[in-house]
Amino acid sequence: MSSLRLRRYGDPILRRKAKWVERISSEERGLLSSMAKIMYENEGIGLAAPQIGVDKRIIIVDTGKGLLKLINPQVIEEEGEDSLSEGCLSLPEIFVPVNRAKKIRIEGLNEDKKLVKLRIEGFLARVIQHEVDHLNGVLIIDYATEKRMRRIKDNLERIANHTKMVLEIENKGR
Ligand SMILES: [Zn+2]
Repeated sequence: MSSLRLRRYGDPILRRKAKWVERISSEERGLLSSMAKIMYENEGIGLAAPQIGVDKRIIIVDTGKGLLKLINPQVIEEEGEDSLSEGCLSLPEIFVPVNRAKKIRIEGLNEDKKLVKLRIEGFLARVIQHEVDHLNGVLIIDYATEKRMRRIKDNLERIANHTKMVLEIENKGR
């Protein structure tokens, strides 16, 4: 496995559909703590495993009410709709208004392999939907209008160029 570091726009892993976790072992628990460390270091409120280069359906979220860790999360019910401007650790300095469900029902596994069923609404529901999007290769820019896309185009290109450079250096070092 290559180093666990924050992956930014332009890294192909962010566009891949992540794999379902079939076995929860010390590897997944270690990954969860690495994810938390990287999320807090970057002052994020949510992180999905592909954002640190790991192709697994694992997310963490902390909107100030404690750390929630979910393996194989699935949104099984959605209700209402709401729009809010969102940012993303993989897209620094980019903000896009995103329509999402106000209330969700979600199921997943915790690190002790127990089934977790939650009904969540408001901001936390939004952040979870954002992270689940990452597991499907979806980014906030996919919700951008043409007008918004024109405004963020240069910024996106800059991030993608930087990512390309980082990946080239990493591949040479192998
Ligand atoms: Zn994100």
